[in-house]
This record gives sequence, structure tokens and C-alpha cells, in this order.
Amino acid sequence: MAIRLALAWILAMAAVPVFAADVDGFRVWTDPEKTRAVLDLDERTEYQLFTLDSPPRVVIDLDKSSLGHSLDLVPEHAGVISGVRHGAPDKNTLRVVLDLANQSEVKSFLLEPTGAYGYRLVVDLFPKNSGNRKTALKHVSAMQASSRDVVVAIDAGHGGEDPGATGKNRTREKDVVLAIARELKKSIDAQPGMTAVLTRNGDYYIPLRDRFEKARKYRADLFVSIHADAFKNRKVSGSSVFVLSSKGASSEFARRLAASENSSDLIGGVTLNDKDDMLASVLLDLSQSATMEASHAVADSVFGSLKVMGKTHKNHVEHANFMVLKSPDVPSILVETAFISNPSEEKRLKDRGWQRRTARAITDGIQNYFYMSPPPGTWIAANRQPVRHQVVRGDTLGEIANRYRVSLYSLRRVNQLKTDNIRVGSELLIPTT
Ligand SMILES: [Zn+2]
Repeated sequence: MAIRLALAWILAMAAVPVFAADVDGFRVWTDPEKTRAVLDLDERTEYQLFTLDSPPRVVIDLDKSSLGHSLDLVPEHAGVISGVRHGAPDKNTLRVVLDLANQSEVKSFLLEPTGAYGYRLVVDLFPKNSGNRKTALKHVSAMQASSRDVVVAIDAGHGGEDPGATGKNRTREKDVVLAIARELKKSIDAQPGMTAVLTRNGDYYIPLRDRFEKARKYRADLFVSIHADAFKNRKVSGSSVFVLSSKGASSEFARRLAASENSSDLIGGVTLNDKDDMLASVLLDLSQSATMEASHAVADSVFGSLKVMGKTHKNHVEHANFMVLKSPDVPSILVETAFISNPSEEKRLKDRGWQRRTARAITDGIQNYFYMSPPPGTWIAANRQPVRHQVVRGDTLGEIANRYRVSLYSLRRVNQLKTDNIRVGSELLIPTT
């Protein structure tokens, strides 16, 4: 009898709409192609979305929901959204209206909880007639005519919904890596025969596959992804350079790091359709040995120049299964510039001077690589300067030969060395091929 009563009571409770979902966050991000609005929901909820003209607007009706957070618009991120309003067409529905500056195509989807986020309703708005990207592409293609520049695609990790790692003092990886990426672009563009393009130049998320697809569209000779890693032990410090490994990671640390970087798409918000495309492209080919060989060579060169600048985490280039490095035909490396989890490195990551020096060191490494093996038809192939290596503590002649992929014999010969003893601070001429 008591059991039956209790059951009746539970059923009665269920009939009353007490399980209302709360909208407890609202964010907007704008990239060159679209504006993305994100509503945080504290539970899964049904919604209807429709668009209206004159003035153009998107109406989102959320079932059994209420507003638990103000709908504020940050002007610099607002993009095509000119205003946000809310109301209640009936007592069980929360209506959110996005006023638009332009007619836009709309795509919406609900994301499952992941990382620090709960359910998220994502509304992507693609303004009709926007053609920024085409002009940028044309610019690079025109340059590729006769004695072309080598093109370096710089990829600032994370962005938008995906903050990346966060430091003790709330520094966000997505912000500092964008600052370093911009410095790197400046530094590369300043070199003769070199041009850099950025995969993202603002606070918005790009799916991992789109990042290397952009590099391929720009016909990049190299893809460099910039990050700042985190570790639970705040003492861990130093920079690292990674290349793709299809077989396995070079250390447990590298494996964990790749797994965490690869979760970006879930946090940044990628739809299921996008993921299917991604799989297809990743399966394309991982055995492009020429691309892998070049990736290793450029990674060694960049690692070498970061080592001259400061502390490195390990004493060698590492490899792991990073999704963003899976371009089949563009040599790709990932640089973890410093540990954002280490308080003194967190401070450095925000320092303009340090960002510049890091950008300069990466540029040196990249430039050395291209002077060693310039792509045919490039300005560098016609005008390259001799490559020099500055000897640092711990260097041996064998390691240097290895790093630049030259024979010990030719290294001795061009430097007229009688023994294998080298002096810290001296410069060695690297034989080119
Ligand atoms: Zn990262």
C-alpha cells in the first residue's frame, strides 16, 4: 500500500513542468565566414528555430526553459548579430531572438556535455555575400608564379569556445598562442623569399581538419601549429616540438598531450557531419614518407634553434598522434612554446618581448630548414645563404650532422675540422645539398 502511494506521488510530480532547463551562458564568436552563437543549457532540451525577414532575425524557442543568465553581446565578437532579445510566447517556452545585420544562412545543433561545458546549443550564421577568403587565396596564388616565396601556414591552436589550457593566473592558451602566431607571421614575412598565412586571426574556433585544409588551399610548404601546454606538476617547464606519429607516442607525456589537443573539436564545437568528413580525409594516407621525412627535418631545425634560445622540455623532438598534423602532403610540426601551467612560464607567455624572441627562434629554425632544402622554383632556391649552426653546450659533431641531415664527413670537410672537438659559441658552416 505504501509503495503504491509513493508511486502515485512521483507520477503527480512528473506531470508538473518543474524540470525546466536553464540557459546559463551566452557567447558569440565571429570568424571570416560565420558568426557562432552559443547558449549553455543545464540539461538537454527540445528547441525550434526559424528565421524571419525584414528585419532579418533568428528566433529560437526553447521548451520548458527559463533564462538564468543575461544575454549580453560583446561588440567586437558580435559579427552579423546586431542585437539579442528574449521573451516568453507561452509560460513553458523561452524565446531568444537574434537580430541580424544581414540575411544569413542558419545551421544549428546541440552539443553533448564535454570538458568544462554542459549541453550547448550552437547557432551558426553564414551572412550571404561575404567573400573575404577568396581574395586572400588569390593573393597567395598570384605570388606562386615564377620565383615564388615559400609559404608557411601558422596555426594558432584552439580559439572561441575552446580556450585550450588555462594558467594559474587565468591566462588562456588560445590568447597567448594567437599573439605568438601573429609575431611569427611578422617575423617570417620580414624574411626575403618567405610569406606566412594565419589559419585563424581572431578569437574563434576552427575544426582541426579545416586547419590543415587551409594550409593545403594556400599551397603551403609548411604547417606550424602553435600551442602552450599544461601539466599537473606546475614545476614542469620548457618548449617542445612534435611531429606526427601513426605508430605511437614517443612518451606517455606526448600521448596524453596529443589526446588532450585532439579533444579540441569536441570543446570547440564540431558537428557530426564535419566529423565524417574529417575521418575520410584522415584515412586518405598516413604513409606519405616524403612529407614525414620533411616534417622531421624541419622539426629538428626548429627544436635546435629553440634550444639555443632557452630551456626545452625534452632533449629531442617528440612524436604523437596529433590530428592537426595529419595533412598528407604538407610537412607539419606542432610547437608547444612553454608550459602555461608553470607560473613563471605563464608570465613569460604574456610578455611581448618573449613572444617576439620565441617567434624569431622558430623563424630561424624554419629558415635554416628551407635554406638546407629549398622547394624548387622558390626565391630561396635561387638566392639561399649558407646555413650556420651556433654550437651550444652539450652539442656534439655527430648530433649536429644528424640534426641537419648531413654526413659527418662533409661537416668536417667544409669546416676544415681535424678533430671532432667543437667549442661552445663557435659557428659551424652546414653543407647544403
Ligand atoms: Zn593546445
